[in-house]
Amino acid sequence: MNVVSTSYGNDSIAMIRWCYENDIDATCVYIETGWAAETWTKRVNDCEEYATSLGFEVLTIRPEIKFKQLMIDKKGFPNQRFQWCSGLLKGIPFLNWIDDIDPDCDAVVMVGKRRVESKERKNTQPVTISDYHGCRLLVHPLFNYTDEDRDELISRTPFGVLPHRSLECSPCVNASSGDFKILSVKDIAKVEALEAEVKKTMFRPKRHNGAKGIRQVVEWAKYGHGKYNPDQDDLFDVGCGSPFGCGL
Ligand code: SF4
Repeated sequence: MNVVSTSYGNDSIAMIRWCYENDIDATCVYIETGWAAETWTKRVNDCEEYATSLGFEVLTIRPEIKFKQLMIDKKGFPNQRFQWCSGLLKGIPFLNWIDDIDPDCDAVVMVGKRRVESKERKNTQPVTISDYHGCRLLVHPLFNYTDEDRDELISRTPFGVLPHRSLECSPCVNASSGDFKILSVKDIAKVEALEAEVKKTMFRPKRHNGAKGIRQVVEWAKYGHGKYNPDQDDLFDVGCGSPFGCGL
């Protein structure tokens, strides 16, 4: 049994296409975090429809615990160094599901991670045994793919290349300035409400030039108040090290 762990961003679609072109049968699994952008539901539906049309099984796991409740329970937000959200929101529900149907751990898990994506992913191995996936084989077939290689795969699907990462969490705790710039009014309001409830800011002011609270962070990202230094962008756009394929 092969499982593609997807977020239905560019890399996930490329991964699905790669499986199709290499005659690999797979189940495409998406996990709802409860923190997706409003528009993402349609994207997930479209991607599931596409994967089904290629002959793949699709599954959306809907865990009981969602992003908002987790932050309230934990009385705070994760950060890039301690991004416990991916393990709790995606890792555990995935394991619960796969352990049930694959008790002998024979399944192969595939994730569309690529080395060129970020510093965090530059050492992505093509094949490994992953503790995070119940000691199953974890394969990254696109590990050496460039953006152009990936886009070539996407060009053979009905989807265009998205100008952003997966919006399965919007915003993600690893959001870059580019992600903040495209955050919808609704998503800004949703973060603001949660920050008020948790009584903490989702993004650390220290890493965002002193911007406190989501509205200021968005302002900062848009070069507000003359404070933003574009040369610093790399510092924040370090990507996600999550083993669960967040953002792909
Ligand atoms: S996408 Fe980001 S916020 Fe969502 S679970 Fe993964 S690391 Fe956490």
